[in-house]
Amino acid sequence: MSDCIFCKIAAHELDAQIVYEDDEFLAFKDINPVAPVHVLLIPKTHLGSLLEAGAPQSGLVARLLLTASQVARQLGVAEDGFRTVINTGDNGGQTVQHLHLHLMGGRFMAWPPG
Ligand code: AMP
Ligand code: ZN
Repeated sequence: MSDCIFCKIAAHELDAQIVYEDDEFLAFKDINPVAPVHVLLIPKTHLGSLLEAGAPQSGLVARLLLTASQVARQLGVAEDGFRTVINTGDNGGQTVQHLHLHLMGGRFMAWPPG
């Protein structure tokens, strides 16, 4: 997707503070952090949202979650706990139309979210 900012970050065409990268995923610091640790984990291939993931993407979705816990360990928030969030659509508060998982930690997370 040529006009997708997260595709551009995945292609290293746009600057981001990358904290993790492998062949399939990239994690980078959220530009507007809401916690001491707040990174976005994205698949490098474009998917508009979780709704666009079907059976062919089942492995990717599973690896996304496994990679999130790996990145949480790497960033030192695994032991104290952390929050993972995937916002989907308007009511979900999704503002960037490329599947991304928020990984937040470093403080207590209240529930329910706003
Ligand atoms: P969401 O509201 O779930 O779609 O989350 C989008 C997130 O992307 C927000 O938390 C933004 O702060 C973040 N964001 C938008 N543009 C960038 C960027 N260029 N680099 C890093 N984070 C970004
Ligand atoms: Zn994209």
